[in-house]
Amino acid sequence: MHENASSAIDTKASVAKPGGLAASAAAALKAGASQQQPSEGQHVDLLVIGAGLSGVAAGYYLQTRCPRKSYAILEARDAIGGTWDLFRYPAVRSDSDMFTLGYSFRPWSSDVALADGASILNYVRDTAAHFGIDRGIKFGHRVVRASWNSADGLWTVEAEVGPEKTIARYTCNFLYMCSGYYDYAQGYMPGWPGMERFRGRIVHPQHWPSDLDYGGRKVVIIGSGATAVTLLPAMAQTAAHVTMLQRSPTYIITLPARDRVARWLHHKLPSTLAHRLSRWKNVAFTMYFYNLSRFRPEFVKQMILRAAQRMLGPDFDVAKHLTPSYKPWDQRLCFVPDADLFKAIRSGKASIATDEIETLTETGIKLRSGDLLEADIIVTATGLNVKMLGGLQVEVDGVPTDLSKTMIYRGMMLSDVPNLAYALGYTNASWTLKCELTSLYVCRLINHMTARGYAWCAPRRRDSSIKEEPAVNLTSGYIQRAIARLPKQGSKRPWRLYQNYALDMAILKFGALNDGAMEFGKSKSSKRVA
Ligand SMILES: Cc1cc2nc3c(=O)[nH]c(=O)nc-3n(C[C@H](O)[C@H](O)[C@H](O)COP(=O)(O)OP(=O)(O)OC[C@H]3O[C@@H](n4cnc5c(N)ncnc54)[C@H](O)[C@@H]3O)c2cc1C
Repeated sequence: MHENASSAIDTKASVAKPGGLAASAAAALKAGASQQQPSEGQHVDLLVIGAGLSGVAAGYYLQTRCPRKSYAILEARDAIGGTWDLFRYPAVRSDSDMFTLGYSFRPWSSDVALADGASILNYVRDTAAHFGIDRGIKFGHRVVRASWNSADGLWTVEAEVGPEKTIARYTCNFLYMCSGYYDYAQGYMPGWPGMERFRGRIVHPQHWPSDLDYGGRKVVIIGSGATAVTLLPAMAQTAAHVTMLQRSPTYIITLPARDRVARWLHHKLPSTLAHRLSRWKNVAFTMYFYNLSRFRPEFVKQMILRAAQRMLGPDFDVAKHLTPSYKPWDQRLCFVPDADLFKAIRSGKASIATDEIETLTETGIKLRSGDLLEADIIVTATGLNVKMLGGLQVEVDGVPTDLSKTMIYRGMMLSDVPNLAYALGYTNASWTLKCELTSLYVCRLINHMTARGYAWCAPRRRDSSIKEEPAVNLTSGYIQRAIARLPKQGSKRPWRLYQNYALDMAILKFGALNDGAMEFGKSKSSKRVA
């Protein structure tokens, strides 16, 4: 049970602000609410931004690990679910297994490992409702600005509300950004010559039109990432033909859609235990496969290519269409369930073209090779625009923070930015694994500060031997387009990102909080504690 507004991180900051939660908290507790929506101008101990998979996890951990803290969630959209509510293209699904993409605290009891978007959305919403997390979400609040004031030990957060973009202000002691990693307004859309001439329809998967009828139509999907390989077999079921047009190939691996071991475990064991074992089995397999790919890239590459050749038959040009120029895991791999992509290609209803676009024409796409791809519909599966912290403008004591000048601390905080954490997942394993660890760490931090009377904590770069490195070690286009704007990681702990669940678990669950890099402080009048 989550008690409300009883204590902020330091007692000074917790003094009820005008319109504070103190009175309403008592009422909420009486009513049995575990948390509640703040109204404009109110104060909460923790403000979570975003009600997607990570925001719901944050709610769960705050309620269970920091039960005496008040918290609320501000969400820009009118719905819970983030990614899984936004993306509505045909057959949208996870490409990592649900035993690790699902929460550790809410069993995924189906044996479907790569689940469809609607089931994931239901699962996230159902989790939010089950734990009463949904009651504390303020929808339609796009957070645009957050200003930290050291004297008060407080964030003032500004959100745009409604079509008029009226500004609503809230204060909090700790700000937890669960806002994902990309721009919701706009997917990435490169321009091509001749776009205005094309007489068919151009569609971006991030904004799939519900009225799009592709039955019997010729479709070209531009791209070769997870979205393109999902769309191809789904659209090929009714389209006249679907071509995946790619400039360069991606590693594509088939996985069983259903996890037989998980099914057996669920059949034999209580749900929670079965979920836990399935989760650990998949964590171990993912880590093993990732490490094998990094240490024996040629072996893994040949294994992937041989499997593709076997499924597509000897005449398919695997060297041209399915052999990337980079090593496995230099970019994310694509996983397809039950070889659906390969089956669609073998059926003749779909194909891959590896080429470059010269221009769009009235009736399709002219390629550099001189070939022409006829199309009624072009789907631009060209990716996302990376956006850190939901586009939030951050100020610390009146000075705007340039994110690219900050260094990432433990994959969740930024140097010299007090009392702010963010949830970002792994690039080589399911998102939820990391975002749950982040929430756990945030709760540990809050409880540590409360116990010692600290008002704030901020990671400090004190070790000059630590070198700056790019935040993400993937060569993928969407990362490279954003890398200059992103914070840096450091060459050593605690500034280095290991993308390793087992290691992170040891550090974030059990490691020391006072590690020499994190500075803790009391309110203005108190002495700072290093
Ligand atoms: C198509 C697709 C498939 C994916 N498949 C997988 C997969 O299989 N496995 C995997 O591990 N990962 C996958 N990912 C990554 C995926 O984003 C994560 O799995 C996860 O859903 C992210 O959850 P999140 O809550 O952190 O972010 P999001 O789902 O992006 O949710 C963020 C929420 O914050 C809100 N928000 C953002 N900015 C603001 C703001 N300024 N103010 C208020 N609210 C704001 C948004 O409206 C949204 O509701 C996929 C991503 C995409 C796009």
